[in-house]
Amino acid sequence: MHFTDTVYRNPYWPTFPLLQITQGCTHNKCKFCTMYADVPFRLQPPEWVEEDLKEIREVAPGAETIQLLSANPLALSFEKLEPILVMINKYLPNIKYIYAATRVTDICNKSVDELKRMKELGIREISLGIESGDDWTLERINKGYRSKDILEQCAKLSEAGIDFWMTFLNGVAGSEHSADHAINSAKIFNQCKPMTVGTGGLVLFPGTPLLDEANRGEFDPLSEKEMLEELKLFVENLNCDCNFITHHTVSGGNLTGPDFLSRKEKIISALDREIRHGDMDRLAYVRSSKRTL
Ligand code: SF4
Repeated sequence: MHFTDTVYRNPYWPTFPLLQITQGCTHNKCKFCTMYADVPFRLQPPEWVEEDLKEIREVAPGAETIQLLSANPLALSFEKLEPILVMINKYLPNIKYIYAATRVTDICNKSVDELKRMKELGIREISLGIESGDDWTLERINKGYRSKDILEQCAKLSEAGIDFWMTFLNGVAGSEHSADHAINSAKIFNQCKPMTVGTGGLVLFPGTPLLDEANRGEFDPLSEKEMLEELKLFVENLNCDCNFITHHTVSGGNLTGPDFLSRKEKIISALDREIRHGDMDRLAYVRSSKRTL
């Protein structure tokens, strides 16, 4: 298999087989991310993609799922993507679900009809690293789009019948805009109605502009307690029924699972308990031991 440099795969989707069709990230400018800092965005050579599909067919000829890599494989134009999807179907005729993480901006250059065609060819679930629905925060972290772009592009995915995830990056607004980040993100998520809402906590990794800003006193990171309070505020304002996934490990409760609305009050209570009685040193240790997004 031709895996190059850093590859990101969503651990909640089947992690085999994986197929890399692009390298790097088209944006590469989010202030909290160095994942693809040294990897220019490129289309994986088509002959590599075909060789990888032949290899997958040898070990899993009946594969029904596949996850496309890397950071934002759907950045490719429809004209470049369609032949790749056709090739996947040729080598893996039982394919039913093609998963991909991608950026909101990658949907802009595709019409609803093209998205419908992509769905016919197997694209069923997309994960969008939204991070925030708050315009101040999106600009602050240099995400490269605004909340109206999120609304427009998610509406196209819904019209095409492609399910999508949206992620909320807890803590990324710093203390100054924490409440706006939580409330405005929930408002945008509620309008988009994603099938899954994922939340992760900010880690200031070495080499990121946000860590440099924090060191210069220009970014005020949240404490562990403030992170939980912000997450709680986001959850309180989230009103779309979805699968809810969080990387937060609160003592005595697993917050991840389906049917968010029926579990919402329990999640809020668990977060509340953690805010009042949780071991913040343990949470800080868990966060500091993370090595990547
Ligand atoms: S967070 Fe995602 S979109 Fe932003 S630079 Fe990193 S890989 Fe690219």
